[in-house]
Amino acid sequence: MKIIVQKFGGTSVANSDLREEVVKRVREAREKGFRPVVVVSAMGREGDPYATDTLKNLMLSTCGCGEQSLRDMDLIMACGEIISAVVMSSALCASGIASLALTGAQAGMVTDGNYGSAQVVEFHPERLLAHLRSDEVVVVAGFQGVTPEGEINTLGRGGSDTSAVILGAGLGAEKVEIYTDVKGIMTADPKLVSAARIIDHLTYNEVCQLAYEGAKVIHPRAVEVAMQHNVPLIVKHLEEKAAGTVIGAELNIVGEGRFGEREMRVITGIAHTTGLAQLTVEMGADEAELELKIFESLADLRISIDLISIFPEQKNFTVKEEDLSRAEAVLKKLGVSYRLNAGCAKVAVVGLGMRNLPGVMARVIKALNDKKIRILQSGDSNITISILIQEDDLPEALCTLHEYFRLDSRSGEAERVLA
Ligand code: ADP
Ligand code: MG
Repeated sequence: MKIIVQKFGGTSVANSDLREEVVKRVREAREKGFRPVVVVSAMGREGDPYATDTLKNLMLSTCGCGEQSLRDMDLIMACGEIISAVVMSSALCASGIASLALTGAQAGMVTDGNYGSAQVVEFHPERLLAHLRSDEVVVVAGFQGVTPEGEINTLGRGGSDTSAVILGAGLGAEKVEIYTDVKGIMTADPKLVSAARIIDHLTYNEVCQLAYEGAKVIHPRAVEVAMQHNVPLIVKHLEEKAAGTVIGAELNIVGEGRFGEREMRVITGIAHTTGLAQLTVEMGADEAELELKIFESLADLRISIDLISIFPEQKNFTVKEEDLSRAEAVLKKLGVSYRLNAGCAKVAVVGLGMRNLPGVMARVIKALNDKKIRILQSGDSNITISILIQEDDLPEALCTLHEYFRLDSRSGEAERVLA
């Protein structure tokens, strides 16, 4: 049995015309001999009646106590995908394709009990396989699972991508297709960089970094799972015929160069994250215990910190603005003096080719200096350089770096190095 998983995001199932397009994609897959499993997100965006944020706000506006239960929040948020799955399954049935909808729980997704950002710990494929064998198209509600105790969990923003890949891996699917409102994975967010260009082939590693650094077109956990199980992933537009972005292992992707050598891009793309606050804590060089206490207290409150630089008398890090008041409360309670710089954004330049190439940081600095964009802090890992800037500078920083590293189509082929 040749299985394919096809995931359709919120904008791809938002109205009946789009759902007709989804039916076409499912039909095409069947004509190619696949047994499709469809995964859907909640329909539409905030404001639409059954979108995730609408359901969440419905609960927030009703709960007068201000102490919303995370458990109940997950319960209401999971409804969006269930509604979407039923509507999609009805559309398939109406067009003559035998279909049924399943919740995440019914589809065999077992989660770890971490409300709002659960991980799938087990997947039981038996029920799904039985439906596939009887030639039914199963539409699974994405973004959710159930604990062994029977509590509903959601998987966090973008979690339907992860649902799709877990199903793909567990069912031994030939590939997982992620349909969305852009042509594929692009060199930068096309909403901010008009010159952004689609990337035809990418490695799991590159996409993982781009996703972790904020390229929300795909969820990082989905890419991780695909990498672990070597499931080919394709990101493409719902309505356009273009092939989209094919994501696979490095060996299959790094192409042969002009002279037969293996070559790769220096910079693959640029991702960004907004809504960050930079904190700078000052203390005496001999206060090791206090230093530890700060980081332990933040961790106890599950406040995630990023761009961490520790010097004897100064500690720098960023937090998400939504966590800022809790982070400041920690620092105040510990009596440390600190400086706050809110309204920051992080720009991350990602590329496999920068691993062996000195001077990429110097070029990032030159590009931003030329535009008088101030770098507040930086960080790097083997294939990523991250820069913290004021959010007001973000659009210009993205466009400048995009042009400087010749990622736009106007400059032709991107710069390459030997692998
Ligand atoms: P879906 O509802 O289909 O899951 P999302 O809104 O989660 O769609 O993701 C698609 C959006 O991701 C695009 O509309 C685009 O603005 C944004 N995006 C950010 N970075 C990138 C990138 N590098 N390539 C493509 N899209 C990106
Ligand atoms: Mg998404």
